[in-house]
Amino acid sequence: AQTVRRPLVMGNWKMHGNLQENAALLQGLLQAGFSAEEARVAVCVPAPYLAQAQALLQGSAVHWGAQNLCREPVGAFTGEVSARMLADFACRYVLVGHSERRTLFGESDHDVLQKVGQALQAGLIPVICVGETLAQHDAGTTEAVIAAQLQPLLAGLAAADWTRVVVAYEPVWAIGTGKVATPEYAQKVHAFIRAQVAEEAAEAAQGLQILYGGSVKAENAAQLQAMLDIDGALVGGASLKADEFVKICRSF
Ligand code: PGA
Repeated sequence: AQTVRRPLVMGNWKMHGNLQENAALLQGLLQAGFSAEEARVAVCVPAPYLAQAQALLQGSAVHWGAQNLCREPVGAFTGEVSARMLADFACRYVLVGHSERRTLFGESDHDVLQKVGQALQAGLIPVICVGETLAQHDAGTTEAVIAAQLQPLLAGLAAADWTRVVVAYEPVWAIGTGKVATPEYAQKVHAFIRAQVAEEAAEAAQGLQILYGGSVKAENAAQLQAMLDIDGALVGGASLKADEFVKICRSF
């Protein structure tokens, strides 16, 4: 990480938790007493628990966000949640294009662009997730895959928009598998992402927070943090345990 960029560590709870467990987990994070000198800390909770996150975290150093949003602003979209609704619960962040959304729910790069647009319009910070599958990794096509995922965004967003987004690099083969990317491998891809963004938005690219995600644990966080272009982490499984998540936050 470079000091020009404030580190950001974000928990992605996925579809886990209930009112009681969430309260205990959030209390654990509050007790850590994060300061403004430390990494920015946030949790992306399931939509039904946004009110709970807001009630418990408001006024603290821990921010909250959602895991998905509708690509349309309003209308007859049964079961969907709009950017404005997330903003109503004072979300700071929303994940967009997580690999589980892409593979299990068929989200395309075009959907991702539309969702990023909705998030920006509502004043949310979209956390845009990109990453290659195991087959793509083994075929040596990682950079081509990332470039293709970024391309519609680079074409569709204004240069100034890149100051209001976060990118998360999550190799799909590392998500939930315990197989973390080596810090060197992740660094190479992070630098590639920053260079791609720099082609459209040179200044914003230098300030862009690029998070690494995929089996981040307390024991590997410090090595990832040591890399120049790794500005934080997007943490799944290990964000469900307060002690471990706090350790990860403090490694950045
Ligand atoms: P993991 O998930 O930390 O459990 O690998 C990361 C993610 O999917 O965001």
